[in-house]
Amino acid sequence: MAQPQPLNSRMDKLAEGLEKKVITWRREFHQNPELGNREFQTAAKIAAHLHSLGIEVKTGVAKTGVVGVLKGGKPGPVVALRADMDGLPVTERVDLPFKSTVSTEYNGQKTGVMHACGHDSHVAILMGVAEVLASVKSDLKGTVKFIFQPAEEGAPQGEEGGAELMVKEGVLENPKVDAIFGLHINSQTEVGTIKYRPGAIMAAVDSYSIKVKGKQTHGANPWSGVDPIVTSSQIVMGLQTIVSRNLPLTDAAAVVTVGAIHGGIRQNIIPEEVNMIGTIRSFTPDMQQTIHRRINEIAGHIAESAGAKADVKIDVMYPVTYNDPKLTDQMVPTLEAVAGKNKVVITPAWTGAEDFSFYQQKVPGFFFFLGGMAKGKKLEEAAPHHTPDFQIDESGFTLGVKALCHLTVDYMEQRTSKSTASAR
Ligand SMILES: [Zn+2]
Ligand SMILES: [Zn+2]
Repeated sequence: MAQPQPLNSRMDKLAEGLEKKVITWRREFHQNPELGNREFQTAAKIAAHLHSLGIEVKTGVAKTGVVGVLKGGKPGPVVALRADMDGLPVTERVDLPFKSTVSTEYNGQKTGVMHACGHDSHVAILMGVAEVLASVKSDLKGTVKFIFQPAEEGAPQGEEGGAELMVKEGVLENPKVDAIFGLHINSQTEVGTIKYRPGAIMAAVDSYSIKVKGKQTHGANPWSGVDPIVTSSQIVMGLQTIVSRNLPLTDAAAVVTVGAIHGGIRQNIIPEEVNMIGTIRSFTPDMQQTIHRRINEIAGHIAESAGAKADVKIDVMYPVTYNDPKLTDQMVPTLEAVAGKNKVVITPAWTGAEDFSFYQQKVPGFFFFLGGMAKGKKLEEAAPHHTPDFQIDESGFTLGVKALCHLTVDYMEQRTSKSTASAR
């Protein structure tokens, strides 16, 4: 059981007093979004804030990342809290006074830039958390590491970035992190609600490409060539049988999507080549391996049967976002104490992916969803993440601040108090 402690109620008052400030920060970030590995202004604002709180700050971690270390007045474990900072190449359509009008060129196309995943909220919430925890520093039984991470949505082509690079650059060392917590705001979960799942909560993601090489010929006599379009069509249909015929679906879900297919230039030419790309989502290493193997077999053998050649490339991207079951079990009472027992609910696993998973590969971590949909709004009217109409209701931020503060303090309390440890 999470013990109600006076420190928690002090932090709650501080968090409530900070609500306006957190909302103001969020609006500034919202109006000035920056793409992955380019979060220069965002990082500068964060660093200035942490400095002003007397927190030890390191900048330029994994390109634009900011890491703050707050040493508590008492000895204890090291707790890391993470917020991601990047926006997306999406043109905002929501009519807000702090709407983004930023535009840029991305992959050769002109586009708006928008915080269309809500990472602006994450940054503002974690800045609030830093302010609360710095105010109660002398009572903290351990050290807090604030991780402001670039490029969660992926680094620009040819660049490294995100959580993977932060881990590589040693963000979980010096001081060594014992546990990490993170949240994601959600536009389709009502304000006040927290969703979590022990074990796999978000999928592993891999991308793949298949190049089908045939033999070019006149569209009027296909028999004198090898048609990569017909062959690719068969491959697309063959790929559908991986999830439906080869995977133990009662263990976990999985997805194989073909996202783009390109080939040909004219109605009466059978082209030489067709290229397709797609995404793979899985929740267990076994299923992931089966999918990889079957994509190779299906594409290779179908192509062979047609006299074509298939060149398959699979790019392993983010691992499963895996909530350490013991840590989850240990911390859920804390969330229930903050949000109310009936407001903390188990969610089915999501097939989206999160690079928070790279931290969880190294240290026990707990990642949860925070409600960001206005109370009473109909779910079908709430735009999904990554869309131009995406919107977040700010009245849920204080709960996010409180949740991260309580998780930190309760975790420290549990780790430093022997009686709690042995009762577990
Ligand atoms: Zn996103
Ligand atoms: Zn996101």
